[in-house]
Amino acid sequence: MPPAGPSAREKVNSMPRRCTVCDHPEKHSIDEALVSGAPYRSVAKRFDLSENAVYRHKTEHLPVHLLKAREVEDVAQADDLLDQVRDLQTHAIDILERAEKAGDLRTALAAISQARGNLGLLGKLAGELDERPVVNLNVSAEWLELRAVIVGALEPHPAAHTAVLRALEGVGDG
Ligand SMILES: [Zn+2]
Repeated sequence: MPPAGPSAREKVNSMPRRCTVCDHPEKHSIDEALVSGAPYRSVAKRFDLSENAVYRHKTEHLPVHLLKAREVEDVAQADDLLDQVRDLQTHAIDILERAEKAGDLRTALAAISQARGNLGLLGKLAGELDERPVVNLNVSAEWLELRAVIVGALEPHPAAHTAVLRALEGVGDG
């Protein structure tokens, strides 16, 4: 008997649960590596996982994990990951400023790219929160605050400012 395909409702409700990264005993280390900006290819190699699995986990599951960790009394871990993203953002902007001063446009571009990645992750996190009214206000406020800080900090750097604003438009409407 051929199995019936999932109904539309089931498709909407079912998160892809079977994920080799989610099931991995070192999931937390993998999440941390991804949050700290390690390329998914090198993470896949390091933990002996397929690149596809790591990529999908990074884009689809990681933001949800950050939230779940928050909800399920794993607050310390979630805050830790969020802090790491914030630290990275500060760091990226610092590098950007120094690179611009030194006229090192290549490094400046890399820093902009890293900053955009951080914003994408945070923006995605904010998007997930929209469906969770309990924690929505809390982290959305953080997101807005962070966003204001970043955009403000980049004002003296027109190229970066424009690039980041463009990236923000992208995540804003999710
Ligand atoms: Zn996963």
